[in-house]
Amino acid sequence: MMSLAKRAKNITASPTLAISAKAKEMRKKGVEVINFSAGEPDFDTPAFIKQTAISAIEEGFTKYTPASGINELKEAVIAKLHRDNNLDYSINQVIVSCGAKHSIYNCLQAICNPGDEVIIFSPYWVSYPEMIKLAGAQPIVVNTKEEDGFLPSVSSLASAISKKSKAMIINSPCNPCGCVYPGKLLREISKFALKNNLLVISDEIYEKIIFDSNKHISIASLGEDIKNRTLVINGVSKTYAMTGWRIGYTAGPADIIKAMSNIQSHSTSNPNSIAQKASAEALKCAQGEVSKMVAEFERRRNFIVERLKTFDRISFHKPDGAFYLFLNIGSFFGQRLKARDIKNSVDFADYLLEQGKVAVVPGSAFGADRYIRISFATSIEDLGKGLDRIETAVFKN
Ligand SMILES: *Cc1c(COP(=O)(O)O)cnc(C)c1O
Repeated sequence: MMSLAKRAKNITASPTLAISAKAKEMRKKGVEVINFSAGEPDFDTPAFIKQTAISAIEEGFTKYTPASGINELKEAVIAKLHRDNNLDYSINQVIVSCGAKHSIYNCLQAICNPGDEVIIFSPYWVSYPEMIKLAGAQPIVVNTKEEDGFLPSVSSLASAISKKSKAMIINSPCNPCGCVYPGKLLREISKFALKNNLLVISDEIYEKIIFDSNKHISIASLGEDIKNRTLVINGVSKTYAMTGWRIGYTAGPADIIKAMSNIQSHSTSNPNSIAQKASAEALKCAQGEVSKMVAEFERRRNFIVERLKTFDRISFHKPDGAFYLFLNIGSFFGQRLKARDIKNSVDFADYLLEQGKVAVVPGSAFGADRYIRISFATSIEDLGKGLDRIETAVFKN
């Protein structure tokens, strides 16, 4: 038997894989499965962004670039952070990576020593705990509650602090629960981070996908002292429907950015040259396209919220951003649906897939087993159809 590295044994494959594999299998057999599990916009990348990439290919922009990204894109990032977030950075404070996931990964690799602790909030994005472990550190999970709109309290944070605390990761707007951190909470978190000498990794990938009068505030914009301890993570995947292009970026203290660049230079080298050109164009010019997509996400959110209000025995907190709704299905635990014992979120998701032909993500993937995640990155028509099916499978069985 070949023995694997501890770090590889230590991480688990995403618990969502089993459900999506089963959904795929069913589709292959011709079953029409409605997909509520998508983690990406269903829109196409705007045409002029694609055109920029085509021009880049035709002009021969197809070779290695500097490992940390081209200056043109870094300048576009700097202009974006100034325009949208009231943040000023110089070129040595920005690094472009192969998606925001890669940005967070490199960041953790650059700052964590074995034994360090990194605070995250549950429900959390699936990859945070595993990326922290891959950096040799330990995730410390602070739970948030549905009745608090999934916003953390500073008192709960205090209990997570130890001598080993190194950093915390915040994610607003949040995947999976759609909460948006208000300014007051961000100021409290900032004070807390400063007092406890923590670095803050601020995952702002859903910044633009935000509804009603909610406003995105980058924690780094709250003052020079917190800016000097924050790594702002963002990218083009969610905002511009560019998930496949794999471009993310980080802005932060120059020494950490330099360390990340060194790590990147020995692993992936530069992010794709063509995608970098297209991303620079997106950041400069695509704001009109973004508003259209966000308006559609908001319309769908309103639709799904109105519909779910009519369902008994489930509860949820109305999402203020991102394109997910986190549904509390805990009242079904310990019960039977069509001779099937429902013990946890995986059972519930599996039941929905089998009986309702609707694919959702079980909350256990996000450290919150009483929930399932529904993505509204799908058409209103499919949302209506899928909700009908859920209603029938759960309430008319
Ligand atoms: C999608 C997502 C990312 C990563 O996006 P990339 O495609 O790697 O740029 C990061 N954080 C959260 C919370 C996400 O949902």
